[in-house]
Amino acid sequence: GRRAILVSACLLGHPVTYTGDDNFVDDPRLRRWLAEGRVIAVCPEVAGGLSTPRPPAEIRGDRVVTVDGRDVTEAFQKGAEAALALARHFDVALALLKQSSPSCGSRRIYDGTFSGRKIPGEGVTARRLREAGFLVFGEDELDRAEAALRAAEGPSANGPSDAEPE
Ligand code: SF4
Repeated sequence: GRRAILVSACLLGHPVTYTGDDNFVDDPRLRRWLAEGRVIAVCPEVAGGLSTPRPPAEIRGDRVVTVDGRDVTEAFQKGAEAALALARHFDVALALLKQSSPSCGSRRIYDGTFSGRKIPGEGVTARRLREAGFLVFGEDELDRAEAALRAAEGPSANGPSDAEPE
């Protein structure tokens, strides 16, 4: 059957980044998923109670700190739990999350020095979802996400290359 997909709200054009902007990705796969009504949008930082705009934050060790030195770990963890609750409620096949974010980054994050340098790592939400058994991809891995979705839905799922009538 058709499975839901959890997507970072900023990738869908919601103005929820720390600067109050979005990270809209204009991609045919995302457009199709939206048209199919399977997209569940979430911004973990907003869900965790942070305002928009907000000070930039980065992961430092096991904490999340803002550029002005405030520890926002709890808000990030609350947002991760909210994203996980959505993932479970809608039984999502996967999550497509904004790469490099301290919440949503799934392969890379900023190094904690606010210098723009990235290191291998996961954001708080990406990690929480993976710990719970969900697949997580970045917007730079849409091909892999699409393949994982097909695998999750099984051979009976219709796709663009499937000429069989339902
Ligand atoms: Fe986008 Fe995730 Fe940051 Fe929210 S927390 S603005 S969804 S990258």
